[in-house]
Amino acid sequence: MLRSVFLAAAGSSQLERLVQSAPVAKNIVRRFVAGSRAGDALGVTRELADDGLSISLDYLGEDTLTAEQARATRDEYLTLLRRLHDAGLTPAAEVSVKLSALGQKVDDTVAYEYAQEICAAAAEAGTTVTLDAEDHTTTDSTLEILAELRKAYPATGAVLQAYLRRTEGDCRELATPGSRVRLCKGAYAEPESVAYQSMLDVDKSYVRCLNILMSGEGYPMVATHDPRLIAIAEDRARWFDRSADEYEFQMLYGVRPEEQARLAAGGNTVRVYVPYGDQWYGYLMRRLAERPANVAFFGRALTSRK
Ligand SMILES: Cc1cc2nc3c(=O)[nH]c(=O)nc-3n(C[C@H](O)[C@H](O)[C@H](O)COP(=O)(O)OP(=O)(O)OC[C@H]3O[C@@H](n4cnc5c(N)ncnc54)[C@H](O)[C@@H]3O)c2cc1C
Repeated sequence: MLRSVFLAAAGSSQLERLVQSAPVAKNIVRRFVAGSRAGDALGVTRELADDGLSISLDYLGEDTLTAEQARATRDEYLTLLRRLHDAGLTPAAEVSVKLSALGQKVDDTVAYEYAQEICAAAAEAGTTVTLDAEDHTTTDSTLEILAELRKAYPATGAVLQAYLRRTEGDCRELATPGSRVRLCKGAYAEPESVAYQSMLDVDKSYVRCLNILMSGEGYPMVATHDPRLIAIAEDRARWFDRSADEYEFQMLYGVRPEEQARLAAGGNTVRVYVPYGDQWYGYLMRRLAERPANVAFFGRALTSRK
């Protein structure tokens, strides 16, 4: 119930204006977002890298409807990649890109061209790009663009969402040599026709997808904070004889940092997804939708007046 309220709120521009301008918003956002500028993101990246963690940086923004904003997003990524390289933070840090922020919903050819430029800049900086997964209306277009990008940049990462009924099939298609695939549960409000609705069904799908990726020939990126799924991933890695450099765990910045440290101390590659920028509203609402404790945190911040 709460989940659908927050996911509906994620799409409300009126509520967005209200929350973005609330003075307390900063307190809440600081927990999940590295800051508003690339410099802030670089600072957090340095700290995480010093702690032995890998990073994927996301410049916040989605559903871009103007050519100007799409260009500005591309430019931000190009500058970010140069700065990561100059700071010696590649290959520890890569970038995550939402194609909708590059104008996919207006013109997917332009989004593809911009993504290609970002992949070229990443290759030049000695690192990679992962294409985030968004709502199901974009999945076909995103996977088509991924396939094109991989012709020149084979290390470009895919993201598959276990809640989608189609995803087992996509896992089979993508479990090929060198194929980096992030498996997550999925963060959008999706209809029953395309997505499992109960947490149990989503978890069962996650395990089936994990089995396909772990037994396949690609590079699985296990993106979850769920202790049971993490334990199952560790078990499957042993079962399929994967060494620590043949898969990785991924978690969000600000979520279960002690578990990130524990996994890294155990010799695993752990990549932290670090968002930055001013367009944090949709991202924050999805985090609140995921976990009641985050809502309590939101409530405390709203009443603390700091
Ligand atoms: C690196 C990364 C990248 C992602 N990229 C995408 C993407 O491109 N597209 C997309 O749709 N979604 C993406 N997601 C979000 C994802 O789809 C889920 O919405 C999100 O990860 C929550 O699901 P979960 O697997 O962590 O488990 P949940 O079902 O949220 O939680 C399961 C259990 O994990 C534990 N847990 C969760 N959070 C906490 C916490 N804060 N503290 C303590 N325990 C906790 C609890 O035991 C909880 O019961 C990404 C997630 C990660 C980690």
